[in-house]
Amino acid sequence: MSKINQAYIDGRFVTVQGSEVVECINPATESNIATATLANRDDAIEAIAAAKRAQGALACTTKAQRIDMLKSLQASVLASTDQLRDSAIEEYGAPLARAQWVSQYASQSFANAAQTLEEYELVRSIGGARVFMEPVGVVGLIAPWNSAAGTICSKLASAIAAGCASVIKPSELSAVQTQVLAHALDRAGLPDGVFNIVLGRGSDVGDEMSTSPDVAKISFTGSTPTGKLIAHAGIETMKRVSLSLTGKSAAIVLEDADFDVAIPLALNAAFMNNGQACVAGTRLLVPRRRLNEVSERLKVLVDALVVGNPQDPATTIGPLVNRAQYERVQHFIRRGLEQGATLVAGGTGKPQGLDQGFFVQPTVFADVNMDMDIAREEIFGPVLSIFTYDSEEQAIAIANASTYGLQAYLFSTDLERAQCIAGQLQAGTVLINRIVPDLLAPFGGVKQSGVGREFGVFGLESFLEAKTVAFG
Ligand code: NAD
Repeated sequence: MSKINQAYIDGRFVTVQGSEVVECINPATESNIATATLANRDDAIEAIAAAKRAQGALACTTKAQRIDMLKSLQASVLASTDQLRDSAIEEYGAPLARAQWVSQYASQSFANAAQTLEEYELVRSIGGARVFMEPVGVVGLIAPWNSAAGTICSKLASAIAAGCASVIKPSELSAVQTQVLAHALDRAGLPDGVFNIVLGRGSDVGDEMSTSPDVAKISFTGSTPTGKLIAHAGIETMKRVSLSLTGKSAAIVLEDADFDVAIPLALNAAFMNNGQACVAGTRLLVPRRRLNEVSERLKVLVDALVVGNPQDPATTIGPLVNRAQYERVQHFIRRGLEQGATLVAGGTGKPQGLDQGFFVQPTVFADVNMDMDIAREEIFGPVLSIFTYDSEEQAIAIANASTYGLQAYLFSTDLERAQCIAGQLQAGTVLINRIVPDLLAPFGGVKQSGVGREFGVFGLESFLEAKTVAFG
């Protein structure tokens, strides 16, 4: 069992000043895989100071120098793809295919940012003025546990492309993944302080970053309640914030869709990453007269899912991240039953034969309406709710009747009609007949799913400020 007790500050691994120790549990076996000593506010202060020292020189780097840094990072993270994959499986139970995708995406983020920067005009003429796109300054990058390497690398790549030094605060639930990633990033040999990694509690490390006058911007991915705390905390120093938050995404299957393709894809959209994905399409909207058919199809598909050891390539659903998440999902399944939804598949308790580990039964409810808790709240587990609609307008109204608006899915053979509906959906992204995102296109939410956009040119610009210089 390994002991993790280091932060990465000013180009070096240093023993944290914090003293709180947390146990890292493999959620598939409930065995202890590591202990992690969390960094504290003093570590955060040192990390911010290191980033501040690095910021001046980084801001003066040329495009070519930043692209070199991004390419070094890409190469060293790529070389650690297998270890990143394995740590994601071990630490939060990501199924093999998903863990593989996220760890490849981690290194690809640097290549994407390099390409974006290459094509981006950092200086341009507007009217009679010259406009310089300058780094916003030192940035805080705060990540959740459910796609640790991917989220951190995506944010870090955009920050470096923009010329921003950073302090990275991964989730306290991702100590093992963070350790693997920190060593990979260190091997890229970037100048000291350009990025620093401090794994600690949000209430002290995260709060220090959100309130420090030396941090110009926070780029946060996580839950909406935490996003609100960060936005509040940052207002005194007028911090720029990008917030990628909670989702409760709708997947609309139109009458003219190819149901053989659409229903399995919609199920994948709901249950990806064991249902622990912000973009999970957990509200499935189908034409009323097709409900029985859809329910039957889903029952067959869900019964065929392989729940179990996430290391096994045959497994589609692994365990939830921890006992608290297991209990949360049980609570929502019970609420669904209490509030009158019809159980199509799954239910409360563990799947047969899986007494050890935080496994839940993949569950599908029908006859769900927007008054029910399972329809309104993000469950963050493999629980899918089916709604029925009588008209296109009603489908759009149900999809939009959420406080969230991260992503939406549409299935139709009529692309013109689908595009027209996409224009009426309140979501940052609408995926039509696909569930895989485009990693260069902007990503983010509307309504309470967030503020700002990440990825590609929009991600780069979120770390830049425009300075106008006009001559008399
Ligand atoms: P969380 O909000 O509990 O924590 C996210 C991060 O914020 C962690 O690093 C945590 O330590 C930190 N934090 C907590 N309190 C803080 C504070 N006061 N100040 C600063 N930082 C603080 O979320 P989680 O449970 O780790 O992740 C799951 C949530 O994240 C879900 O709601 C999911 O939808 C969301 N998420 C969103 C996206 C997206 O791109 N929109 C992607 C992945 C996850």
